[in-house]
Amino acid sequence: EVKKSGRNSWQFYTTAMQLESEQKHHLYNELVMAIDNNQLTVFYQPIVDAASGRVVSCEALVRWPHEEGWIGPDTFIPIAEERGLINRIDLLVLRSSLQFLNELNTSLERPLALSVNVSPRLLHLRDDDAQEWLRELERETTVRVTIEITERVLVEDSDQTHKILDQLHEAGVQIAIDDFGTGYSGLSYFSRFPVSSVKIDRSFVQDLGVKSTETTLVETILLLASKLNIKVVAEGVETEQQAEFLRLNRCDFLQGYHISKPLSEQDFRDFVTSRA
Ligand code: C2E
Ligand code: MG
Ligand code: MG
Ligand code: MG
Repeated sequence: EVKKSGRNSWQFYTTAMQLESEQKHHLYNELVMAIDNNQLTVFYQPIVDAASGRVVSCEALVRWPHEEGWIGPDTFIPIAEERGLINRIDLLVLRSSLQFLNELNTSLERPLALSVNVSPRLLHLRDDDAQEWLRELERETTVRVTIEITERVLVEDSDQTHKILDQLHEAGVQIAIDDFGTGYSGLSYFSRFPVSSVKIDRSFVQDLGVKSTETTLVETILLLASKLNIKVVAEGVETEQQAEFLRLNRCDFLQGYHISKPLSEQDFRDFVTSRA
């Protein structure tokens, strides 16, 4: 009996894996076409100053409008990273978000800053895509740019990464650690890299005031950051209680559904102007 069910489940496993890899291959082909046809778009999520509530910045988040509905980056970014498409995506997101913000800023009293996510892949490679991406960032614009990277990038600490990040820092680009706290791997990179800010992962923010460990972790991150003189953005703020806790504990910036979901260009423009 045991043997039989064991074999059956193995068969099921291989079939499911095969199916998954076929689906992934199909998705990959569609993604290549979507990139070639310029179908990926960028949404913008407001980032507000915690104390004043003013929109000061936004995070560019890539979206794929697919005939079966929108596909989120968590589905296609891993495939893009695996199959060498991520650099093209990061480049097109950077280009279109810079263009959008540049234009939007001309109509605003106070210009907004921009945060873009960058794959570890891009920072480890010295190929044409990475060079083009760098040139784009070094170009003169009215937009203050922050790149969001994960701890993994800094922990690996390759010469290549160092070189690119130094170059970016010199060009005035700020560095934020995304999903801070989830990839805990020591803190020594703070002394090796010019980190400007950390983004507290939303898994901690969600449990603020509910679970004491997560609450203590957030308090500790805020204390650490103030000692290191770096800014803190709280991600995934969904309730007024969370926002209130973060304000009281002197978190610098808030981002999350409580303020706004990621918005299309038009909706973001409306959001910003209605709040100005
Ligand atoms: P991330 O950089 O940590 O982005 C924050 C994610 O949290 C976004 O998911 C955002 O929509 C979501 N979020 C924001 N506020 C809330 C909230 O209050 N509650 C909840 N439940 N979620 C919230 P999204 O847009 O699906 O992006 C997922 C991840 O994909 C990003 O995580 C980032 O790592 C990656 N990504 C997105 N755009 C790009 C890109 O252009 N290039 C690269 N390399 N990665 C990207
Ligand atoms: Mg991010
Ligand atoms: Mg994050
Ligand atoms: Mg994330």
